[in-house]
Amino acid sequence: MQDPFGHRISYLRVSITDRCNERCTYCMPRELQEWLPREGILSFEETLRLVRVASRLGVRKVRVTGGEPLTRRNVLSFCAELCRIPGIDDVGFSTNGTLLAREASPGVPMASALHAAGVRTVNVSLDTLDRDAYRLTTGRDLLPEALAGINSAIAAGFELIKLNCVLMRGRNEEQLAPLVEYAGARGLLLRFIELMPVSTSEVLSDANFLPIRETQRLLEARYGSLVPEPHFRTNGPATYFQLPGRAQRIGFIGAMTNLHFCESCNKLRLTCDGKLRPCLGSYLEFDILSVMRAGATDAELERFFLDVVERKPEQHDFRGNYQTNRKMVAIGG
Ligand code: SAM
Ligand code: SF4
Repeated sequence: MQDPFGHRISYLRVSITDRCNERCTYCMPRELQEWLPREGILSFEETLRLVRVASRLGVRKVRVTGGEPLTRRNVLSFCAELCRIPGIDDVGFSTNGTLLAREASPGVPMASALHAAGVRTVNVSLDTLDRDAYRLTTGRDLLPEALAGINSAIAAGFELIKLNCVLMRGRNEEQLAPLVEYAGARGLLLRFIELMPVSTSEVLSDANFLPIRETQRLLEARYGSLVPEPHFRTNGPATYFQLPGRAQRIGFIGAMTNLHFCESCNKLRLTCDGKLRPCLGSYLEFDILSVMRAGATDAELERFFLDVVERKPEQHDFRGNYQTNRKMVAIGG
């Protein structure tokens, strides 16, 4: 699948729930805390059918997300089915990590069960190692559980574990070096993410925004000049740098300040209530659930995907006066 701007689509981000056991201020603002009705959520069978259709159109990578995907029942059998779909050769999982160490079955932590199901990479959100700051950002005092979850993921033997840190001035710029050290000591790939306007909240103010460039300057003051690695990519929009004198790479996801951010976009998103979104930072979304439940054939669903790709914008609208039509937790980050 290719859009009119030359974006080649090979990656589907699949949200399986808008529910979460945390309340991150930038994702689920207090004024918008309500769940979607259950009957409007895609069943796993419906989601799997849509992924099969997408795989026939060239999608090779799927990332399962939410909300917190580990809060949904039967997520393991869903992941196992997903990994068996012909053509899907890379299944990743995004999580806040707090449930990864929980037992999926006696003696088997969720992280190991996900790995056994065929999931290759996990992305774990970790904005800070300071327990108070973690509680303030996520609304829950679950830093020990998140760290235990990361340990479980390491023990499970995933191919790659990424740590995602959303940058917020006054909240975690003191945490840059501790996070770098934490990731470096464990062989985890740390990425810093600029705050995006995907919720409606006082959190998304200019005062809270910490740009990538400034983050890099803060890191360089401590570690020396970062060495760009323009050819290293992990299927997404992050740019990577090597820390001088160390075998450690760190990534930056600058959706707001990187003017080339959208050029290599290869992604579509499927929300848990069955909307196909051609872009995170655009109002556009198309209701594939209703079409499917009205009896569409696979060929018609394929056409639907192609029509959505045809409407993919050249770039996101975040730099304009963008007001989201959904909070992040209901899009699927
Ligand atoms: N619950 C899982 C988690 O926290 O990783 C998966 C869903 S979460 C919506 C996916 C990613 O989106 C997380 O890394 C989170 O930090 C990021 N995110 C949420 N709101 C954001 C925002 N306003 N700006 C930038 N990243 C955001
Ligand atoms: Fe939940 Fe993840 Fe959103 Fe935080 S970022 S509220 S953990 S979905």
